[in-house]
Amino acid sequence: MSTATVIQGQLKVPVLDLKAQYQTIKDEIQTAINSVLENQHFILGPEVKALEAEIAAYCGTKYAVGVASGTDALILGLKACGIGPGDEVIVPSFTFIATADAVSMLGAKPVFADIQAGTFNVDPESVERQITPRTRAIIPVHLYGQAADMDPIISLARKHNLQVLEDTAQAIGATYKGRRVASIGDLGCISFFPSKNLGGYGDGGMVVTNSEQLHRHLISLRAHGSIKKYFSEEQGWNSRLDELQAAILRVKLRHLDTWSSQRREVASRYDALLGNVKGVITPARNGFGDHVFHQYTIRVKHRDQVQKRLGELGVTTMVYYPTPIHMQPIYGGLNQHEGDFPITEQASKEALSLPIFPELTQDQSHHVSEALAQVLAE
Ligand SMILES: *Cc1c(COP(=O)(O)O)cnc(C)c1O
Repeated sequence: MSTATVIQGQLKVPVLDLKAQYQTIKDEIQTAINSVLENQHFILGPEVKALEAEIAAYCGTKYAVGVASGTDALILGLKACGIGPGDEVIVPSFTFIATADAVSMLGAKPVFADIQAGTFNVDPESVERQITPRTRAIIPVHLYGQAADMDPIISLARKHNLQVLEDTAQAIGATYKGRRVASIGDLGCISFFPSKNLGGYGDGGMVVTNSEQLHRHLISLRAHGSIKKYFSEEQGWNSRLDELQAAILRVKLRHLDTWSSQRREVASRYDALLGNVKGVITPARNGFGDHVFHQYTIRVKHRDQVQKRLGELGVTTMVYYPTPIHMQPIYGGLNQHEGDFPITEQASKEALSLPIFPELTQDQSHHVSEALAQVLAE
């Protein structure tokens, strides 16, 4: 071992610090909440309407529809595209389970695709291999805040007459060749889960689209299948964003671009500090546009031991995701499918997400990097 200063767990670095962010916007948030309380209009009122317009403008789409969660954004989006029993939808195996569950919920079949090793994003060539006559849609996921390679996916969709739903839960604000993600496919599905880059103070989600027909269908689906009140034309849901969340999100949206650049600064600092640490592979950038660093995810060998030791040194990290979806018990199980998607399986063993949030200080990023260097030298 080197004689460099030995790090102990004196400085704690959380993986995410929502309290730090709240302190910077407390007054604005309280004003926004109070105004909803004064109005006493809680469901589908002026705040939701305004947020829908603002998110549509932000993403560069004509329409946006507030729903109850990012998962519901995917389910309602798929339903609006007409996906149902007998249909296949291609999703990456390396994502949050909700991407696949949304497909299963509608009685359709999620068909998995592998990822690219550098960016952890879905591999368009693997997607192409999974297309069958039953394929109806593709859900690329902009994982960790970086756009998936959309051009080849869009051309596959055109060629095979498929719909494209962008899972933008982790990547609002990211760009792909000059366009905001969520605006490139037929539909973009956004999550406002509290830990996401634009997080509410509870569950929430939104679907954005340029299609008037999909927009109309989504408005109906989130409210019991009715456009006209108490007049149902189809099976729908109760899935709505509420006014309190919308008011909070409108405040936070005003800060989103600043927060995204702060996240990029933290990421560059990590790149510089970790670039020469042996055994660490820092996250690749695909060069297609702005990364918004929902996560800063490295690769390391012996990941679980590294994570445990980092924890002892005060550094909290996360593993997104330890079990690929094709190996989840509900989708066939561990043994049955091991080896199907080797790049995904390797990523699930090596990926480690370091603390990242806009307010992360220089001291904290130094502590994380020094702790990691020390653990890997042990
Ligand atoms: C968070 C997330 C979702 C689900 O969003 P919820 O708002 O939690 O329902 C879907 N896909 C991905 C990739 C996510 O990270």
